[in-house]
Amino acid sequence: MFTLSKCMDAAMVLGNSHLFMSRTNRLAVIASHTQESRFLYPGKRWASADLLGDGGNSVESNCSGSKDGKYELLTAINDAIAEEIKDLMTKTDMMGQQTETLLAGSLAKALCYINKISKEVKANQEMKSRILVIKAAEDSALQYMNFMNVIFAAQKQSILIDACVLDSDSGLLQQACDITGGIYLKVPHLPSLLQYLLWVFLPDQEQRSQLVLPPPVHVDYRAACFCHRNLIEIGYVCSVCLSIFCNFSPICSTCETAFKISLPPVMKAKKKKLKLAV
Ligand SMILES: [Zn+2]
Ligand SMILES: [Zn+2]
Repeated sequence: MFTLSKCMDAAMVLGNSHLFMSRTNRLAVIASHTQESRFLYPGKRWASADLLGDGGNSVESNCSGSKDGKYELLTAINDAIAEEIKDLMTKTDMMGQQTETLLAGSLAKALCYINKISKEVKANQEMKSRILVIKAAEDSALQYMNFMNVIFAAQKQSILIDACVLDSDSGLLQQACDITGGIYLKVPHLPSLLQYLLWVFLPDQEQRSQLVLPPPVHVDYRAACFCHRNLIEIGYVCSVCLSIFCNFSPICSTCETAFKISLPPVMKAKKKKLKLAV
């Protein structure tokens, strides 16, 4: 049985390893739940000064100290993450079988955080940022528009998005990784999650070129129509605002542009022929 606590343990080891790779590395952890996305670390107890290493003393005073000789900051981070996720899980009411989480919002939070930190680092320091999504929830077609906007914002800022998918494949994350140059991986064997995290996602972009990583996946580039949020392969696109619709409508429901052109003859949707691999 693969539980949330096992997944959190693996994520924390990855976070700790990331901080160990370089003295200048930073870490933020955001939980994406069904009704809330929340910073697990740095949480309320952490002032931004601590993150930049200027506030070493306050970090020490914040944590209870290490019991097993490990670096105190890591103990403090792990404790904070465990505490916050416990609080989040107990305070959220799960309604029905809904497993869609607020992923687009969490990614937007991550981008805002990266932007904030990049303003704080000294001008001569270059900051490279990436976001790793560890996801066990279903994709939410409702968030398609927000999600794509976040992805293009990340691409513009040259922020990599990696995805480590634990359950069913995610078309949205496949697109996100493909667009931003990150790695998409569906973990083939869940109990080995930690090994996959350390092998595939710990190395940064430069180190990755030296490794033999899992081959890129085939990306499902279907878009969700704005009218029903169904994933479609062929549809109508508003020439003014680029909204996508599965049916022709004389007035765009997004920007209210009226189209004067007469309807093209309706083509019967051809059923896709199955291609046999040779
Ligand atoms: Zn539709
Ligand atoms: Zn339009």
